[in-house]
Amino acid sequence: MDFVTNDFLENDVEPLNVSDHKPLSCYIHIQQSKESMKSKKQTTSSTKIYSKPRWEKCNIENYKEEVRNNLEHLDKNDISTFDINYKIARIHETLKNAEIKTTKGRKKKKCTSKKKLWNPEIRDATKKSKTAHVEWKNAKTNISNVRRKEAKKHLRKVQRQTAAAKRNNLYDQISSSFQNQQKTFFKLVNEQRQRSSKQTDMIRVNETEYLNIDNIIDGWELYFENLSEPKEDPRFDAEFQKQVNEDIMIKEATNNIYTAKITEELKTKSTLKYLGIQKQPLYNPHPIYKFTGPNPFEVLKAQIKARILTGTHILQENLQKFNQHDIDTTCELCHREPEDRNHFILTCKKLEDKRQKHLQKLTNLVPALQERPAQLLQCILDQSHEDLTGLVPADEETMSQIEQHSRDMLYDLHRARTSYQKLNTQN
Ligand SMILES: [Zn+2]
Repeated sequence: MDFVTNDFLENDVEPLNVSDHKPLSCYIHIQQSKESMKSKKQTTSSTKIYSKPRWEKCNIENYKEEVRNNLEHLDKNDISTFDINYKIARIHETLKNAEIKTTKGRKKKKCTSKKKLWNPEIRDATKKSKTAHVEWKNAKTNISNVRRKEAKKHLRKVQRQTAAAKRNNLYDQISSSFQNQQKTFFKLVNEQRQRSSKQTDMIRVNETEYLNIDNIIDGWELYFENLSEPKEDPRFDAEFQKQVNEDIMIKEATNNIYTAKITEELKTKSTLKYLGIQKQPLYNPHPIYKFTGPNPFEVLKAQIKARILTGTHILQENLQKFNQHDIDTTCELCHREPEDRNHFILTCKKLEDKRQKHLQKLTNLVPALQERPAQLLQCILDQSHEDLTGLVPADEETMSQIEQHSRDMLYDLHRARTSYQKLNTQN
């Protein structure tokens, strides 16, 4: 900056600018010819971009000295007339050269993985192998050939053992650093992921060798396919297999007990008449909660639906059941009929406008419900009930949509009912 102009201003850093550099502004008086403008346009595409020197590796005093010496012969006062492209290129060059001269060079590329495997044992084995090879080359006898092969075999063995030991050591380090040294852990994992550290270029599945990247993927596919097929094998751990089979049996038995228990209870409780029972109820969520996703609002709506389905949402009819005193079951909204679930969901005139758009969507989805109010009510409350088998599609996509519409509908009705009640109590 000092070189280009003496006349510059140090600006304040704007509040939103988080850079640790201070913005400078300056005027440079330059006369530029049309020719140089043209040439600039042509050369912009090939402009070199120089990266910032790595200061931590750079001898800064030497760098300054180098820059100062090289810029001395560029005349500062000549600034208004110089060919800016040329001189900026010179400055660039000077800075880059100074950096190269005063920065410790890049380390040479790391050794390949083969060379990293080196210890006294490998060194001895390599030496022996080389000697045996030379002997065989000179003598060409059978004995020397056998020795050569043995020495080579031994070298391979030592290399493999060292590689295995190194690998195990790495895994140990990874697993032990995972608990207390996160930084080491990620460093090791990243090293492991780099291509250069891979131990093999091929895999062998069922006696076929897979050598290039695409092939190797095919090989893995076959391998896992093979692995996933159930088969009998004398090498299996029979004890563990027995344990797994027992676990499965226990799960099934528990499920059966609960299914029987719930079915029995449903017979005696009229409030649960709309509730369907899932196959394997311990492991299959009810559709009410199966399709909500993680959205808390949808879960809240599902809760309201579940309470209406199980008869724990307080309608006038339930109020009478749960109360010892005689309570009028007449709907407090329309005063026409007793308020049960059928009235609340399908017939109360006060809730008509809230109900219509949802009913439309539901009957569009399942036209068979149009003329069957009993099944329609059942479907809104619980589409998984056995009464609807064959009438309502049971594919996941349709089920999810039915659940969405009925959940929305019951929530809207519930809200409308609550706000009417509030109005009534206020008046
Ligand atoms: Zn009503």
